[in-house]
Amino acid sequence: MSEKMWGSEQFWGLGYEWDPDWFLNDRQKELRALLIELCEKEMRANAKRSDDELLFPRRNLELIGEHGFLALTVPEEYGGLGENHVAYSMVCETIARYGCASTAMCYVMHIGAVNTIMLRPTPELVDKYIRPLGSGKIGTLSYSDPETGSHFWYPISSGAERSNGGFKVRKKASWTTSAGFADFYVVQTTSPDFSGYDDLSVFVIDGDDVESQPSLWDALGLRGNQSGPLEVPNVDIPDEQIVGPVGDGAASNDESVDPWFLIGSSSVWNGIALGTIDIAKRHTTRKRHVDVGMRVADYPTIQDYVGEAVMDTNASRCFVLSVAEAMDRATDNNTKVLAPGEFARADYLHWAWQIKFIAAKNVAHVVDKMLHACGGSGYKRDMELERYLRDAKAGWVMGPTNEVLRQFVGKAVLLGFDSLDYWNQTYNRRAVENEVKKLDANAKRELAEQLVAQAEEEEAKAPAQKA
Ligand SMILES: Cc1cc2nc3c(=O)[nH]c(=O)nc-3n(C[C@H](O)[C@H](O)[C@H](O)COP(=O)(O)OP(=O)(O)OC[C@H]3O[C@@H](n4cnc5c(N)ncnc54)[C@H](O)[C@@H]3O)c2cc1C
Repeated sequence: MSEKMWGSEQFWGLGYEWDPDWFLNDRQKELRALLIELCEKEMRANAKRSDDELLFPRRNLELIGEHGFLALTVPEEYGGLGENHVAYSMVCETIARYGCASTAMCYVMHIGAVNTIMLRPTPELVDKYIRPLGSGKIGTLSYSDPETGSHFWYPISSGAERSNGGFKVRKKASWTTSAGFADFYVVQTTSPDFSGYDDLSVFVIDGDDVESQPSLWDALGLRGNQSGPLEVPNVDIPDEQIVGPVGDGAASNDESVDPWFLIGSSSVWNGIALGTIDIAKRHTTRKRHVDVGMRVADYPTIQDYVGEAVMDTNASRCFVLSVAEAMDRATDNNTKVLAPGEFARADYLHWAWQIKFIAAKNVAHVVDKMLHACGGSGYKRDMELERYLRDAKAGWVMGPTNEVLRQFVGKAVLLGFDSLDYWNQTYNRRAVENEVKKLDANAKRELAEQLVAQAEEEEAKAPAQKA
């Protein structure tokens, strides 16, 4: 096994013997070594500037772009590296661990946008958005809505209409990574002729057509991420800029946005956890207590902290990589072109929920424990641990939040997948009957009259449905 290097020296954190390298092929290991080199040379130093100055990590993204990483998963025939889900996980983890977590999260959103376009590639979309990735073009996903918070699959403040042979698109997003800095935005809105909130469509909007307010972004961590609000103000776009058919939004979410986002972001959380273990190793093996003649690392308490953190984090990494590998198998190593209505990654979506929950939960715990292991020194900014800690705390609250995910999984296990009712369409008879039971005769009559009035009003509005 080759030695992990940091410039001309041996890496000061955990060596390759603690990385689950059986998931990677030789080319992927070379790509990782290249990324570590870029992190050592420049990206890690830029992370500090991004954090201090709320600076979008453009230079870091350009740097990885120069080496083809912005088109990592794009087929070679379109100028990409032709890599798979496992490679993507490795790249996100590596950038977050050795370099810059904000860059890693911008990268996750970028690859999410690229792959959402590549789910339904057309010659026009490929020429305009995919081939130029080699020249450093950056995309992002804009899904969250101010009205529905972390329920990003429910875009109330949005809409699209057919107009002049193309579309008129409007969208308000409360959060969009790289807002104001990306070259293109993949957005989800309700469909033209919309028939309900499961009727969603996906569009690509050019950077010049969006309104953003980067000055509003200021956060605890991932400060370079620039996840500010964004508006697409009823913009005319050509027909070619719809991604997939009208109404493809829910399928696109399940087959592309969620799988790529959940694998990428879980890998970022794992990378951050590892980054803090690396720092704790460096610090605790160097710091001495002269009175007892021990290094901090010599105390069994500290060894226990590190041992548990490594095992938990490696469990999470193996979980993420194994789901990535399952998606590689289902897509013939990320080469399968799926027609609308065909699914491959989506079959593993309930596994992708689990990896995000585990990785975000683990990193929140590990960063605290590594801070405890390093003591007060870790609390100071110069050790960088505190930046990793702040960045890590985004994991739990980013949508789908961990509260939502554990409920998805528990509810699906106990009541079946249909019970998840993403778009609030299923009538909960049990709850209604239970509440009605509490009413007296007058209140029941009042409710019944109210319901009859509502039904008549609805029927008057939609006479065709009356029969
Ligand atoms: C650093 C960062 C970057 C981001 N980047 C992007 C991006 O690029 N694109 C994008 O589209 N979005 C992005 N987001 C937004 C993210 O996906 C969520 O939409 C956002 O974090 C939700 O915040 P909120 O305050 O609206 O939470 P709320 O939805 O109001 O949640 C508040 C609390 O309620 C809980 N809760 C919500 N629903 C339920 C439920 N059904 N059951 C139980 N509990 C529930 C939540 O878990 C949470 O504890 C980003 C967020 C962060 C922090």
